[in-house]
Formats: sequence, structure tokens, C-alpha cells
Amino acid sequence: MSESATPIPDEVVELVRNARAITVFTGAGMSAESGIATFRGSGDDSLWGRFDPMMLASVDGWEADRALVWGWYAWRMGQLSGVEPNAGHHALAELANDRSVEVVTQNVDDLHERAGSTVVSHLHGNLVATRCSVCRAPYDGPVTRPEISDDADLDALRVEPPVCASCGGAVRPGVVWFGEMLPERDWDNAVESFAHTDLVLVIGTSGIVYPAAGLPERAAARGVPIIEINPDPSGVGTVTIKSTAATALPALVAALGPRSEA
Ligand SMILES: [Zn+2]
Repeated sequence: MSESATPIPDEVVELVRNARAITVFTGAGMSAESGIATFRGSGDDSLWGRFDPMMLASVDGWEADRALVWGWYAWRMGQLSGVEPNAGHHALAELANDRSVEVVTQNVDDLHERAGSTVVSHLHGNLVATRCSVCRAPYDGPVTRPEISDDADLDALRVEPPVCASCGGAVRPGVVWFGEMLPERDWDNAVESFAHTDLVLVIGTSGIVYPAAGLPERAAARGVPIIEINPDPSGVGTVTIKSTAATALPALVAALGPRSEA
């Protein structure tokens, strides 16, 4: 059996067919097949394994070494600009042709948007939404990217952050760091979407942490079915498809088929 022949249970096909509004909750696994590194993984191939995440993704790290933190995110912005939405992102956008599909993502990339999906919430911020760390003014000027090789050390990463044109403050990435609140508007939009959906798809979100983990739980508490798509499921689903996003989602769209008039 080829990978493209991932079987989609009839139950899942019926749930999606009958849903008028779907909320899709995505994590790192959604973007992995686009070549975006997953930062919660461990092991030698994980960038988290080479650098201290608390130094690169926390307010304390930023205060201690802005050039290192900015350089790291500038490198990631460069990585993001070089990758494309995968077949899973495109399938989700296609799913919205016949029903309301709202995406709530924990990813800081813009691959859902580039594929054409409606993203109502970036729970952990948006990498390229750079802004002033002092007055919050958006920054859309040039971003100098560090050139780093596989055996790069920290010095190679350092790039001084741009300076805010309004107040002279340092420009920072648009992501949520450890120790920061989730962005209020994105959180409210996520709660709203989960409160009104009749089906939840949880995709590529191993190890969801609170408060985000409470979103699918709230929907489940009012009887909303949860379909989890993940090669290594977290167990949040009432139905589970053990597969990757880029494999299962196109198979799901194919299984839905052209809708015949009932
Ligand atoms: Zn400013």
C-alpha cells in the first residue's frame, strides 16, 4: 500500500461531511513536512538539542543577549521564506470550499495563510510579525539573516536587532516567549471558534500544554467529536488517524469526494 492510500475511516468521512463548522487545531507536526524544524523534539537533529531553548525563547534570554535571540529568529525567518505549504496545508484550504473551516494554530509560521486557509488565531504569535519590544510598533524593514553552518556556534548567530523608527527600542520577533502571556485577541478568537464548532481536527500537536490543551477539552465536554491526526497521537481524539498531516489530509479530502446532491 502506498502512503497516499492512507485509509480514512468511514466514521471520519461522515463526521466531516456532516459538519457545518470545523475548527482545526494545529501544531509543529503540521509544518514538519514542509521542512520546518520542530522545536519541541529532542535528539541531535533538533535545534533545541543544540541550543538552550530558555535562552533563545524567553524574556530573560532576550534581556541577556538580544543579538543572539534576534539572530536566531532572523535565521528562522530565512528558513521559513525558503519553504512552502505542504499537501496537508493545501488540503485544509480545500476543505473550506464546502464548509466553514477555522484554523487555530500553535505554529508561528504563515504556511496556513499561504495555502489559503482562514487562520483565526496564532496562539504563540507569528514569526514574521516583527514589532518594537518597547512601544509595540510593527516593524516591516529589512531583516539581516545570519549565515550559519551545521556546526555553527552561538557567535555565528548574533545579529543586532533593528531599531524602532518611532521610539528607538529594539525590534523583536512576533512570537510568544516562555514566561509571556498568550496574545489576548488570539486567545479570545480561539475560545470563540472552539465554542461554536461542531467538529474539531487536532493535527500534529503532540504534547499540548495548558492553557491551549483546554481548548479541545472544552469542545469535547459539550459532545463535539475530536479527530486527531498524528503519527504519534496524544490521545486527545475521540477518533484517531495515525498518520501525518501531509498524508492523511489529502486522503480525507479525496475520500469526501465530489458532493453528490442528496
Ligand atoms: Zn518603538
